[in-house]
Amino acid sequence: MKSKTSRRDFLSAGLILPVVGAGSSLGILNLSAQSHAGNAASAGRESSPVKLSYKTLGKTGLKVTSVGMGCMITSDPSVVTRAVDLGITYFDTARSYQNGNNERMVGAALAGKRKQVVLSTKTEARDKARQLAELDTSLSELKTDYIDVWYLHGKSSPDDIHDDMIEALQLAKQQGKARFVGVSTHSNQQQLIPWMVQKGVFDVVLSAFNFSMDPAVEQAIDAAAKAGMGVVAMKVMAGGSRNQKLAQQGAMLAALKWVANHPSVATTVPSMTDMDQLDENVKAMASPLSADDHKLLAAHLELIQPLYCRMCGKCEGTCAQGLPVADVLRFLTYADGYGEFALGRERFLQLTSEQISARCGDCVECTVKCPFGVHVSRRMARAQELFA
Ligand code: SF4
Ligand code: SF4
Repeated sequence: MKSKTSRRDFLSAGLILPVVGAGSSLGILNLSAQSHAGNAASAGRESSPVKLSYKTLGKTGLKVTSVGMGCMITSDPSVVTRAVDLGITYFDTARSYQNGNNERMVGAALAGKRKQVVLSTKTEARDKARQLAELDTSLSELKTDYIDVWYLHGKSSPDDIHDDMIEALQLAKQQGKARFVGVSTHSNQQQLIPWMVQKGVFDVVLSAFNFSMDPAVEQAIDAAAKAGMGVVAMKVMAGGSRNQKLAQQGAMLAALKWVANHPSVATTVPSMTDMDQLDENVKAMASPLSADDHKLLAAHLELIQPLYCRMCGKCEGTCAQGLPVADVLRFLTYADGYGEFALGRERFLQLTSEQISARCGDCVECTVKCPFGVHVSRRMARAQELFA
């Protein structure tokens, strides 16, 4: 989005909007398989009753629906299968999701449909040998010969990405096991994404991105898209739960529309756990943002301000007890926002034993301040109460 308006202005004005279709190949289409001859992602599909919009994933040239499917918390394979049948073409999983069960579930759900979709997965392994071993496991679990986009999982800084990790990505491409490669990032994107662009070896970035974020993140995403990198957005609901009153009024759908219509974003990977959520999310491709959507987003932003960590890495100060604040608050979002308590606790328990046993109540004063208004110590204490 090219607006210079800040996110705080958004609260009062209520309106920061992506320019639909500007500078992108977005087109709203009533999809039929015939209308996309040559696009592997639509091969063999019946006409869909759903209005779909397509974009191109940067220089990969892959055609993807502007709403894809994040499979991280999906347990029901029939939701994935139905998403394919509705015409969604981008599916994202990771080796680590659900302790490996997620890839297996997605592989089973895509049986006979693999060529209709663009499929991405990720590795958290930290050296070349283990990355490549994980890739072979991913291929086996997903029942496929190739991954369309293979990501390094959850990086926040160039220091997290070593040369041998990049060698593994390149080798995977040479061997035909990965068509394209990239990095997924939840935080500090304003530093990491420009480095990725400058490095010139990454095809795609999967970034946390939503209407509530700092303009610096948006600038990094705009620059990446301009340089030809494919941009996939996650965390698109800004931690929102569909059980909240505003969500029931359409705030989650508005949040998804905001990102799906963003000119620098090719596709989005909202989590979907059931058919109702799937049906709701595909609607984001059928209509532009409305005046009511803008009002809902402004109200939602106000609601989440003390609660939702944008993982921007702009905390003032660091935790006196060495806690990774943005990570812990992300785990809390899994529980409070997505209703995925087990996932949040699983991630929390991967912290060091010192971090797991740290308690905010032991601090006289919190040494971390959030310029966006998140009540850091209160939220961190809640995470400890829930997970430790
Ligand atoms: S607590 Fe605030 S400043 Fe720190 S990462 Fe989260 S949103 Fe950014
Ligand atoms: S109150 Fe919690 S988040 Fe703040 S410095 Fe202490 S342990 Fe860290």
